[in-house]
Amino acid sequence: MKKLASPAALSERADRIARRSRAGNWKKPPRRIETSECITCDSCLRGCPAEFGAVFDLGLDVVIVPELCSGCPACVLECPVDCIYVDEDWSPTDDAMWNHIELTAESAA
Ligand code: SF4
Ligand code: SF4
Repeated sequence: MKKLASPAALSERADRIARRSRAGNWKKPPRRIETSECITCDSCLRGCPAEFGAVFDLGLDVVIVPELCSGCPACVLECPVDCIYVDEDWSPTDDAMWNHIELTAESAA
């Protein structure tokens, strides 16, 4: 079962969403999902700790938002097809996705 996140940890996630940037003290690069290999099973989404909440199922694709991903990498252990890779050259998330994330965060509050 997923461990419950502390209110402080969840508030740090909310802060990252508001700032649209990664935590400055994260040393590991984020992860990315190779969509051509992914079978959209959502195991990674369920496995990502709530304080990070970095995985989103967009319907056709499951994606990791690099600004929310600590690179921990709990999701990698859950993926049945090993399609979650280190993403050293990650690109910033676009505004449309941030708007989606903000709506998701509001509905969960
Ligand atoms: S590496 Fe960790 S924080 Fe990033 S998506 Fe996977 S489980 Fe979530
Ligand atoms: S666990 Fe792997 S196969 Fe399943 S949705 Fe995540 S990345 Fe895709």
